[in-house]
Amino acid sequence: MAAAPVRTLRFVLGDQLSRRMSSLRDLDPDRDVVLMAEVHEECGYAPHHKKKIAFVLSAMRHFAEDLRAEGLNVDYRTLETSDEARGFRSALAAAVERHRPQRIVVTEPGEWRVREDMLGWQNETGVPVEIRDDDRFLASRADFANWAKGRKSLRMEYFYRDMRRRTGLLMDDVGEPVGGRWNFDTDNRKALPADARPPEPARFEPDGITREVVDLVRDRFADHFGDLDPFWFAVTRSQADAAFEHFVREALPKFGDYQDAMRRGEKTLYHAVTSLYLNVGLLDPLAVCRRVEAEYRAGRVPLNAAEGFIRQVIGWREFTRGIYWLRMPEYAETNFFAARRRLPDFYWSGETDLECLRQCVTQTREQAYAHHIQRLMVTGNFALIAGLDPKEVSAWYLGVYADAYEWVELPNTHGMALFADGGVLASKPYAASGKYIRRMSDYCCGCRYDVDKATGPDACPFNFLYWNFLAEHRVKLAGNPRMALIYRTLDRMPTERVASMKSQAERFLDRVCRSGPVTV
Ligand SMILES: Cc1cc2nc3c(=O)[nH]c(=O)nc-3n(C[C@H](O)[C@H](O)[C@H](O)COP(=O)(O)OP(=O)(O)OC[C@H]3O[C@@H](n4cnc5c(N)ncnc54)[C@H](O)[C@@H]3O)c2cc1C
Repeated sequence: MAAAPVRTLRFVLGDQLSRRMSSLRDLDPDRDVVLMAEVHEECGYAPHHKKKIAFVLSAMRHFAEDLRAEGLNVDYRTLETSDEARGFRSALAAAVERHRPQRIVVTEPGEWRVREDMLGWQNETGVPVEIRDDDRFLASRADFANWAKGRKSLRMEYFYRDMRRRTGLLMDDVGEPVGGRWNFDTDNRKALPADARPPEPARFEPDGITREVVDLVRDRFADHFGDLDPFWFAVTRSQADAAFEHFVREALPKFGDYQDAMRRGEKTLYHAVTSLYLNVGLLDPLAVCRRVEAEYRAGRVPLNAAEGFIRQVIGWREFTRGIYWLRMPEYAETNFFAARRRLPDFYWSGETDLECLRQCVTQTREQAYAHHIQRLMVTGNFALIAGLDPKEVSAWYLGVYADAYEWVELPNTHGMALFADGGVLASKPYAASGKYIRRMSDYCCGCRYDVDKATGPDACPFNFLYWNFLAEHRVKLAGNPRMALIYRTLDRMPTERVASMKSQAERFLDRVCRSGPVTV
């Protein structure tokens, strides 16, 4: 007897590794085929870190195994075995040839570029394509657009409060935030005490599938950025759950207090190292927040830690995605300060005398991870006050972190770190001098520059770049009420001092920035 014709081809992308994906609902195990494909274009469209490629491919292969174990029919195309898998289109066209489905079902992708492509799949294949919402997010794209409609400015804080009300997370019986405040961020800026011993994140020994993928990446992506070994990420849902439980037990109680702290040689401090798992679907955002809330309600975790974590996930994570879909494709072109300088080589090599940058880039190269303040206030802050081109900076962030996908990376880079969007996402630029870095870290102790100096051969470049940035963009920034105080300080400085910082900034940037036109 001939096999029943394939009814639905369900195409699951590499960051959609959850059994709860909308594309996998109403699945008929006897007549549907799940298609998964490792495609060359996705591995190569950004200079992805080797650990990131290995993570995604291994997690995909493990997910396919889980689906097969459930008895589902999975058509999995690996990079080694498939010639057709240049991009999603060719992988899909070849699968349509093989299976002749009546329809194709997909969940919307995380990137505008892929969505544009997806809109052409029906024409290309001649088979009806149903694109479903990605309901792993609490706010759909339409929800966010409704929330944003008619507002003069979009601020994460108000969006976040709505998300708290909607989920009931950390709310009391009468609909008020527990603890009487929505936001405990001001409690979360403590410097790390010298005797603090932060835990290591959970690490996992690579199994056979991961070892195969690691060999493949070593072989095919040798010229990509970053160290492949040691590879320690979770690659299955149960490992990601275990990694998160480890965080909850070992680090969450202090997550709030030391959220903004940095220390030499410490890569993760009390952070969750969970974004890479959330972003591919190995962890569920609402479930991790409920777990954190339960720890607070059981009295094991202080409110500033629980609230701080939950705000990052249902607040910032959802908000950045909302801004992305609301503002693309123009958002990627934003360049409020007309910044044109090219990325210095040390963003790739880590070879610089600036100890803070050396620490952050080196750990990024080794681990494909840096925590938020390292990304925002060290590499991001430098890029902002040095006037680096937003496209080059964004390409860097998209490549070097294991959790990087454009929907979250781009608003964080153009909006939060660079203020390239002119204030769509943040109310003022996160520009800071070396003083901030000294307050929040011990990086300045090991540095050849003197953080107390703003001019002269030993002056900390963050100092003269900072004041030069403010002076240079006075017209665009001085009217911002949140910048008034700092402009008053600048105005009190002798003109010669400002001029001297300007010329030192120019000489420094001419020396460290690459020459030639921007290439992205
Ligand atoms: C320039 C720049 C680029 C960034 N690029 C990315 C990226 O490509 N992918 C990414 O997931 N995050 C990005 N972030 C946000 C943030 O830095 C990371 O989510 C965080 O460092 C991940 O580490 P963690 O899991 O230990 O986070 P934790 O500090 O433990 O926070 C818990 C969770 O909250 C969420 N979160 C925290 N801050 C943010 C934020 N600003 N935006 C969105 N979600 C947030 C993450 O899912 C994270 O896992 C970027 C930030 C900056 C400043």
